[in-house]
Amino acid sequence: MRTVRTVAELREALGGAGSGSALSGGAPSGTVGFVPTMGALHEGHLSLLRAARAAHDTVVLSIFVNPTQFNEQSDFDRYARDEGRDARLAEEAGVDVLFAPEVSEIYPEGFCTSVSVGGRLTEVLEGAERGRGHFDGVATVVSKLLIAVRPDAAYFGEKDYQQLLVVRRLVADLGLPVRIVGCPTSREPDGLARSSRNVRLSAEARERAGTIPRVMAEIAERVRAGAEEIEPLRAAAAEALGRAGVEVEYLAFVDPDTLETVADLAAPTRLAVAARVDDVRLIDNRLLTPPDTKR
Ligand code: AMP
Repeated sequence: MRTVRTVAELREALGGAGSGSALSGGAPSGTVGFVPTMGALHEGHLSLLRAARAAHDTVVLSIFVNPTQFNEQSDFDRYARDEGRDARLAEEAGVDVLFAPEVSEIYPEGFCTSVSVGGRLTEVLEGAERGRGHFDGVATVVSKLLIAVRPDAAYFGEKDYQQLLVVRRLVADLGLPVRIVGCPTSREPDGLARSSRNVRLSAEARERAGTIPRVMAEIAERVRAGAEEIEPLRAAAAEALGRAGVEVEYLAFVDPDTLETVADLAAPTRLAVAARVDDVRLIDNRLLTPPDTKR
């Protein structure tokens, strides 16, 4: 595995590989799969790397804690960083090139361009809670990374479901020549979605956090059994989470493509949750499928 810090080194390490190379005159030498992350690698990230490793000749991992997508400075400051450990895990996972740029490489002095995905996709859920700037930060850094790496495919987790939709929209709208692959959420044995933030939970808070996937599974079960009314499900969930000391920011039932709020659960629906356990903010989502669903 080669670790590079600049886009120039990255291009040199990739040689002729990648989607743009034939256009720019280089001889294509295999496909490139790309996994962008903010580091603090866990099994969720590794599942993305395995999917990329299985499908491509070259696998690129980026580790960049992107300051522009954090709405709380303290969250950015406290974000877990351990590049040595990450590099070992990346190497074991078969990564060929680790791109770990400094902030100044991505945002050099004078940087003032922003990529902004408009419309409902970025207004609701995380957009409403964290402010518009969050998805502008994501869209801008993902655009820069895709242009730098020029992968054939880029791998994103369904764990950040809204982000996955935003990235798909961005790539379609700009006509970027990359395939976006969504990967299933990797979970702890009790169902908690793996997240770099989980390490900040005390043992006692970690226990209570397990209520989030349990409540979501109960809702999924009731929808599978034919429940179509949202409010009774929401009330039962709010009660169970409240009892566990989990502070709900949103518990939303939305259209899986548009994120529009749905009126009932007769069609497949995404359940999206954001909640705080002590001072740690966690998000999760899952598909709710009514009986007799063809999709
Ligand atoms: P992050 O480092 O949190 O920015 O995440 C980098 C990528 O890993 C994103 O595409 C995330 O959606 C994905 N990811 C994070 N946690 C998980 C998980 N538990 N399962 C699957 N993918 C994940």
